[in-house]
Amino acid sequence: MAWDFETDPEYQERLDWADEFVRTEVEPLDLVLGDPYDKADPRYIKIVRPLQQQVRERGLWACHLGPELGGAGYGQVKLALLNEILGRSRWAPSVFGCQAPDSGNAEIIAHFGTEEQKKKYLRPLLDGEISSSYSMTEPHGGSDPTLFTTRAVRDGDGWVINGEKWFSSNAKHAEFLIVMVVTNPDVSAYQGMSMFLVPADTPGVTIVRNVGVGGEREGSHGYLRYEDVRVPAESLLGEEGGAFAIAQTRLGGGRIHHAMRTIAQVRKAFDMMCERAVSRQTRSGPLARLQMTQEKIADSWIEMEQFRLLVLRTAWLIDKHQDYKKVRKDIAAVKAALPKVFHDVVQRAMHLHGALGVSGEMPFTGMLLGAQALGIADGPTEVHKITLARQLLKDYEPVEGMWPSGHLPTRRAAARERYAELLELEVGNT
Ligand SMILES: Cc1cc2nc3c(=O)[nH]c(=O)nc-3n(C[C@H](O)[C@H](O)[C@H](O)COP(=O)(O)OP(=O)(O)OC[C@H]3O[C@@H](n4cnc5c(N)ncnc54)[C@H](O)[C@@H]3O)c2cc1C
Repeated sequence: MAWDFETDPEYQERLDWADEFVRTEVEPLDLVLGDPYDKADPRYIKIVRPLQQQVRERGLWACHLGPELGGAGYGQVKLALLNEILGRSRWAPSVFGCQAPDSGNAEIIAHFGTEEQKKKYLRPLLDGEISSSYSMTEPHGGSDPTLFTTRAVRDGDGWVINGEKWFSSNAKHAEFLIVMVVTNPDVSAYQGMSMFLVPADTPGVTIVRNVGVGGEREGSHGYLRYEDVRVPAESLLGEEGGAFAIAQTRLGGGRIHHAMRTIAQVRKAFDMMCERAVSRQTRSGPLARLQMTQEKIADSWIEMEQFRLLVLRTAWLIDKHQDYKKVRKDIAAVKAALPKVFHDVVQRAMHLHGALGVSGEMPFTGMLLGAQALGIADGPTEVHKITLARQLLKDYEPVEGMWPSGHLPTRRAAARERYAELLELEVGNT
C-alpha cells in the first residue's frame, strides 16, 4: 500500500487482503450494479452475499461495532485504516457491513434500544438483511433542530405522529424509520423531542417523492409525510425527551466514519491527477514538468495528508476516551475540513484533465457534487466551525487589565524583574 501508518502485522495482513479484495471484487460492482440498499434485488443476493461471507470469514464484518454487537471491536484507528480502503467504492461499505445510515442506526438501537427492539431491528440490521432510514430533517428546517415541528401526541397506550420529513436517505428501501419528533412543545426542544422506531409500512407513512441530488430526477432521499401514524408506546427509542442525546451519539460516529472514507476518495483524485501529469504532453513535455502543475500536486498532497492525520488523531482520541462527547471539538474540526479538502483536490485533478475532466467519462463531477453534499449532510460546515470555535474558546479567560498576555513590554518588565539581581538589570526600565 502507498499509505504509511503502521499497525500490528496481523491486522496489516487483513488490510492487505481488504485492499486487494476491494480492488478486484468490489470496485467493479460500482460500474454494473445500482443501489446498494435494495436488499431484495436478486442480483444483490447472488453477487453480494457470497462476498459478504468472505468478509465475515476474514473477521472484517461490521468493524465499527464492538464484539458484544457482533463486530470485531478493533477500535477507531484500525477502523480508519480499513475505511481508507472501503471509501474507494460505493459498494464496499455494504459488502463489509458498515454502510450508512444503517451503521449509525444500529449503533443507537444498540445503545438505547430495549431487548425487544434489539431483537426486532438490530439483529437483522447487523446481519445485513434489512435497510433502515434516519428521518430527522424537515423541509423547513435542517441545521437547527429546534425548528422541527413533526409532532407525536399520546393517544391511549400509544402515540400518533403527524408531520413531514425530507432527505430521509434510503427510505424507499427501509424496513423501518427512526423518526425524531416533538413530544412536548411546552419545554425546550432539547428536552421536548423524542425518537421513535416506525415500521415503514405503518398506515399513514407516505413517500411523497424520492428526491435526487445533482442531475438526478429521482433519487434516494425520501420526502416523507406522516399522517396520523399510530405507533405503540414500545416504539419509543430511549427516554421520552431524549432525542438530542441520541442524535449526538449517532451523528458523532457517522461524521468520523464519512471522513475516514473520504480520505480514499481524495486519494483517488490525487492519484488520477498525478497519472495525468506524467502522461499528458504539452509542447514543453509532460504537464508534470510545469511548475503550476507541480504546485497543484504539492498543495493537494499536503492538504490530503494533513486531513488524514487529523482524522487518525481524532480516531485515536475516540479510542482513548470511549465517549464522542469528549471529542466533540475534534469531530467538528474533521467535519469542517472534509468538504474543503475533498473539493479542492478533486477540482485540481478535474482541471488537469481538461475537457475530459468535466466530461461524463471521468468521475470528477460526481466527486465534486459528493464534496458539496458532504458539506451539508450531517450539518453544514458553518455549524461545525461554530462548535469548534466555541469549544476552543472555553479554554481561554479574558485578560485582566489593559494589555494582552503577549504584550512584549509587559512581559519584558516581568522578565527583567525576575532576573534583575542575577543580570544586574535596572527594574522598571523596559
Ligand atoms: C446527501 C445528503 C444526505 C442526507 N441524509 C439525511 C438523512 O438520512 N436523514 C436526515 O434526517 N437528513 C439527511 N440530510 C439532511 C441534512 O442533515 C440537512 O440538509 C442539514 O442538516 C442541513 O439542513 P438544511 O438542508 O435544511 O439547510 P439549512 O439549515 O437551511 O442551512 C442552509 C445553509 O445555511 C447556512 N447556515 C445554516 N445554519 C447556520 C448557522 N448556524 N451559522 C451559519 N450558517 C448557517 C449554511 O450555509 C447552510 O448550508 C441529508 C442531506 C444530504 C445533502
